[in-house]
Amino acid sequence: MQTNFTPAQLADSAMQVSEKILRTCVHCGFCTATCPTYLIKGDELDSPRGRIYLIKDMFENARPATGEVVTHLDRCLSCLSCMTTCPSGVHYMHLIDHARAHVETTYKRPWHDRMMRSMLSAILPYPDRFRLALAGAKLARPFRALFAGLPVLGPRLGAMLALAPSGPIGRTPGEGPGVHPANTPGTARVILMSGCAQPVLNPGINAATIALLTRHGIEVVVPKGEGCCGALVHHMGKEHDAHAFARAQIDAWCAEIDARGADAILITASGCGTTVKDYGFMLRDDAAYAAKAARVSALAKDVTEYLATLDLKPTIATGQVVAYHSACSMQHGQKITDVPKKLLAAMGFKVKDVPEAHLCCGSAGVYNILQPEIAGALRERKVTNIGKVKPEIIAAGNIGCMTQIAKGLADRADATPIVHTVELVDWATGGAWPPALGPAPRPPFEGHRPESLGVIATAASVTTTALILGAIDLAGGDD
Ligand code: SF4
Ligand code: SF4
Repeated sequence: MQTNFTPAQLADSAMQVSEKILRTCVHCGFCTATCPTYLIKGDELDSPRGRIYLIKDMFENARPATGEVVTHLDRCLSCLSCMTTCPSGVHYMHLIDHARAHVETTYKRPWHDRMMRSMLSAILPYPDRFRLALAGAKLARPFRALFAGLPVLGPRLGAMLALAPSGPIGRTPGEGPGVHPANTPGTARVILMSGCAQPVLNPGINAATIALLTRHGIEVVVPKGEGCCGALVHHMGKEHDAHAFARAQIDAWCAEIDARGADAILITASGCGTTVKDYGFMLRDDAAYAAKAARVSALAKDVTEYLATLDLKPTIATGQVVAYHSACSMQHGQKITDVPKKLLAAMGFKVKDVPEAHLCCGSAGVYNILQPEIAGALRERKVTNIGKVKPEIIAAGNIGCMTQIAKGLADRADATPIVHTVELVDWATGGAWPPALGPAPRPPFEGHRPESLGVIATAASVTTTALILGAIDLAGGDD
């Protein structure tokens, strides 16, 4: 694609990158075929190619974002399905990130939009605030219909309350910074990113990761000072805040690596993983952090990538049919496709691909709150597709998707449990029974082969796992 930027415009490093991306696009339109928002809205401006044109026009003419441009950019899930499809290698992620930051600095959103975005970015990245907000949401839940009917803010408030978990939200023993020594002598040592929203919504994921790794001779450390990776605010265009979160993570991790060493930084939410792996790019112009950011990105791994390097053997008979939901941030953002499925198959599960697996479930960070209509349609489509493979268990590697899909299942009174991949691997190799699977079988345990785990997992247990905010594709990010 031909571009017309002035040398003065190209003096800006971010614009240089975007101009290069824009020139890569040959406007063939292949990407439209796999874009979820184009599928739903049928409008070229809600397709990757349409958005690329809007961004090009805005940047070339040095225009502030207009209401129309913002509408179409806001509808983008940042699912990155278009990047997987694009034959020309257009780096849409960096382009949309730059465009969102431009929107944030040049466009004044309506008051209700500003309020909602400020509230989400002030609460979600902070576990204590998030816990408090969820406690409030529980109290407000019985009045959900009332809130949903309010003018202007109603649909978003309704979506937020509908996603809030009905079960207890508490602290888990052992959470927070600390060292988890290996149970058996080992040589490896990893950093585990504990995250922000995930441990509040489902502390079992990090607990299963720690149990699994320490049982296999790997020391796990959660460094002091780490928290949110910045993905949540990054996807809202709040670049300054996102970079501040990134620097705090880098400081915490580099201090640990320099003092005691670490073989990898493990991330259990693929939305976050996509962002951490991009720190090197995000902070490339920051003289004090560029090298450290690149170092951290090089060490970052999705937990399944790391588990695939270990010699893991199942210690129980499994065999359940598992529908593997590949988060967008996993398959499109990090290009991790077969690894989690092979891992589950090696543990004895019968792994099934979900039809239309490339399509987002609608979680996408805080998208399911900010764009409840499109997110709801995508959730319905995803849950229907998952149902087609008749799974006994659903596995995913991103808390946002787990929350979003659990909500869709609960709406249908479908009791199929959804768990994190690492919870199944931990259980299969001698760890704890994943609570979302329902009541644990009584010992002596000789391998659990229920005819249908769906019968065991009560609707109540699913509702408990129907947590707020997929947001949390997380990465985002992502889905
Ligand atoms: S597939 Fe790639 S090159 Fe073709 S229009 Fe989409 S982004 Fe541009
Ligand atoms: S990131 Fe997803 S929603 Fe956005 S343009 Fe690409 S395919 Fe469409």
